[in-house]
Amino acid sequence: MKESGTSLENLLKREGKKNSTKRNLIINSFLLDDRHYSVEELHQRVKELNPKISLSTVYRTLKLLTAWGLAYERRFDEKNIRFEPAHQAEHHDHLVCLKCGEILEFKDPRIEKLQERVAKRYKFAVLRHKLELYGYCRRCQR
Ligand SMILES: [Zn+2]
Ligand SMILES: [Zn+2]
Repeated sequence: MKESGTSLENLLKREGKKNSTKRNLIINSFLLDDRHYSVEELHQRVKELNPKISLSTVYRTLKLLTAWGLAYERRFDEKNIRFEPAHQAEHHDHLVCLKCGEILEFKDPRIEKLQERVAKRYKFAVLRHKLELYGYCRRCQR
């Protein structure tokens, strides 16, 4: 985080002082918690720290981070849009719960290898991939 810390500061400076305290609070929570936040969830989280922060400020801040390449927007389906910090976005795949919306990350080198093998078989040059498994998390199965 040290490197992007300084560039983040510069980016924020360029954005101007307006709302900067709120925005910093949102950014810090987002980057430190290191989760796949929906706008609403992050809003709930930062409201505990500053009740004056509005949903639209949270949304705009996340869009800003995405534009700067510090966050990724992931659409798991129409209603389940989440943001994740870019620093943890080295490749991983996802398990998506259809009931509560929880998203778990996983990484399995064997799956990655298999995919490469499949691509090779079809002489396909893969640039990226995403693997999402949909179902119910442990809690929602009960
Ligand atoms: Zn993968
Ligand atoms: Zn669930």
